[in-house]
Amino acid sequence: MVAKNSFGAKFGRTSANRCMDLTEQQRKNLWGLVVGELENYYANAARLPVSPKLDKAAIRAYAEKYKNGQPASPEEAVKHVVDGLTNYAVHTSHPMYFGLYNPRPAFAGILADALTAGFNPQMAAWSHSPFAAEAEEYLIRELGKHFGYAENSIDGCFASGGAEANQTALLCALNHCFPGFAQKGVLGIGASPVLYCSEDAHHSVVKAAGSSGLGMEAVRNIATGPDLTIDMAQLEARIEADTRNGHRPFMIIASAGATGTGAVDPLAALAQTAKKHGCWLHADAAYGGALALDPAHKQLLAGIDLADSITFDVHKWLSMPMGAGTFVTRHPGLLSETFNTLADYMPKDAKGLGITDPYAHTLQWSRRFIGLKFYLSLLIYGWDGFAAIVRRQMATGRYLREELLRAGWQVYNRTELPVLCFGNAGFEADPQLAIDVSQKTVATGKAWLSVYRLKGINALRACVTNYQTGKPEVDRLLELLNGIA
Ligand SMILES: *Cc1c(COP(=O)(O)O)cnc(C)c1O
Repeated sequence: MVAKNSFGAKFGRTSANRCMDLTEQQRKNLWGLVVGELENYYANAARLPVSPKLDKAAIRAYAEKYKNGQPASPEEAVKHVVDGLTNYAVHTSHPMYFGLYNPRPAFAGILADALTAGFNPQMAAWSHSPFAAEAEEYLIRELGKHFGYAENSIDGCFASGGAEANQTALLCALNHCFPGFAQKGVLGIGASPVLYCSEDAHHSVVKAAGSSGLGMEAVRNIATGPDLTIDMAQLEARIEADTRNGHRPFMIIASAGATGTGAVDPLAALAQTAKKHGCWLHADAAYGGALALDPAHKQLLAGIDLADSITFDVHKWLSMPMGAGTFVTRHPGLLSETFNTLADYMPKDAKGLGITDPYAHTLQWSRRFIGLKFYLSLLIYGWDGFAAIVRRQMATGRYLREELLRAGWQVYNRTELPVLCFGNAGFEADPQLAIDVSQKTVATGKAWLSVYRLKGINALRACVTNYQTGKPEVDRLLELLNGIA
């Protein structure tokens, strides 16, 4: 990591171990500095501009500041990093961030990530980190129960995020529908497998198809109806046409909280269609899955228990630091069929204990204790704490919708989730308008929102994704937008 003696010489150390460890006094000073900076950011993020000016030359020069030497002290090094993170980032922790599904990370989750880095449990083999492995398995079982799966048939794993979880789903679906896929690959299928999702599905689906060897063209994007959920008649027609033409439909991916629009596809109806055509049904609930944790809103995901598998990110609505996704399935054994390989060098200490080695059960191998942020947060906040985030953001979203309508904006999506796509008659005529309004808003540093194209209209998209965002922030956003537009 550091050239021999360069770092040590600077700080009066010569041996590598001293160099890496620093002295006890230095460590105490640095812990204090880092904790102070983290607390300052946590408590005062709302005072920062929400987003930086994107002056690439200045930012690159800042990143390269020490290329010809080192900071004078570890304190200066930490300060350099803290200033870089403060000055050159979009602050999703800011309550005026109405952005993509990025949260303000909740405090317990941050603590957990620090503990994970410090203890660094190796999650590849169960026997190296049995507490961590069992804690994650416990969380997967609890999530499965919340989604309505039968207790004795829940399996799953933690992942870096929704993209990896969706890739995991695709590989599991291939192994389920084409036994031996893991051994023989695409060539062993002897047909051209195709999968279906709505045109508003997340593009990680296309990426997964491309990188699994199916090819991106294997993804059939089905148009949405007026409510922006997948058009069931068009889906049926496309599956039948594909089958007639010699393709092999094997998977349907439902969006349960689409990234752009918040739409939830009709899960129960899709389960019937999937069954009829021998397809695996995967629910991509990367964001929307949190609804299952709130008794007041879980009916919005009715039918999710019929899905063969589910993607759910705890680093979205549950407000955990990145990257923490989950993949949950009601087909135990399939993950092992998909990912098991025999590796002679892996520890065998737990042989005979009836355990699952994570490396033989997931895409990743060496990996961090992703689940700890969720586990510690659950211990500290409880399920009620997560449900409260959902209820608060749903209420703030309803308020945002009311205020937009009251101010004369037109809301184009009809989801109950706190995601609003809106504009006015001018937006329908001029696709540049939404881009201009969002850029002007973002340039003030007072709020962040994005643009989403739906049904041929470039709309402004504002999502309540920060648990601190409430009515005062909505009022300020409306004031800004009404001024600019
Ligand atoms: C965010 C998102 C993803 C991708 O998840 P990452 O955690 O960014 O990898 C997939 N699907 C949906 C519906 C999403 O909103």
